[in-house]
Amino acid sequence: MRLTVLGGSAAGVNTGQGCAGFLMQGDGVSIVFDLGPGTLPELRRHADFRDLDAIVVSHLHLDHILDLFALRFALAYNPIPPRCKTRLVLPPGGRALFDGAATLFGGDERLGYFDQVFAIEEYDPAAALAIGPATLRFTPTVHYVPCWAIRLAAPSAGGDLTYTADTGPTADLVPFASGSAVLVVEAGAGPTPEEPVGRRGHLTPEEAGLLAERTGARLLLLTHLWEEHGRERSAAQAAAVFSGRLELARPGLAIEW
Ligand SMILES: [Zn+2]
Ligand SMILES: [Zn+2]
Repeated sequence: MRLTVLGGSAAGVNTGQGCAGFLMQGDGVSIVFDLGPGTLPELRRHADFRDLDAIVVSHLHLDHILDLFALRFALAYNPIPPRCKTRLVLPPGGRALFDGAATLFGGDERLGYFDQVFAIEEYDPAAALAIGPATLRFTPTVHYVPCWAIRLAAPSAGGDLTYTADTGPTADLVPFASGSAVLVVEAGAGPTPEEPVGRRGHLTPEEAGLLAERTGARLLLLTHLWEEHGRERSAAQAAAVFSGRLELARPGLAIEW
């Protein structure tokens, strides 16, 4: 399997870098996790946006979903139309958000505004989700809104991939992520957060590194980073507690596993 980073910045875009978005390809399937602002142009470099098997959304914060609205226009109006609707798998509550957005943006077209291009469903976080030969599982994180980490298993992958989505340190994701080969972990709190631990909805790079170390991951991809916190500073903090291979998310970075 190959993981390609489509963005990697924290809640606001970095210079030349969009927000949350990851493309997984292999075993004949293409799956996207989140599609935040600035990630659709990067997606076009690596895959045909008409041919994705599914887009799966961790939570409904704008930095994880905004380019789904841009994708709606790409699918509806690009001169080369898609052969079929794109499967859009939203967290609980996602359907209502898209219905509200259709009312906001769609005007007279609001009925079917998104459904004409997306096959929308909500996942059951307690159940496994099949996308072709791949299987996804979910667990709740600790964040400012309901959010789910996602673990992906696929036949040809060299182990599972777990994406923490957005999470504070009081979520114990070790049991869920344990044994994954690749961990995609957010470090949006930066190296020296001011918010108390118990109220935080993001990890420090050190906490991200500790999570990866405790799960036994071979590779840690740090993501959800503010450039103002310093990429090398974040990397050094995580590397101090994680013994495996460390990468920092940037658009186009590809990891085979
Ligand atoms: Zn976020
Ligand atoms: Zn968030």
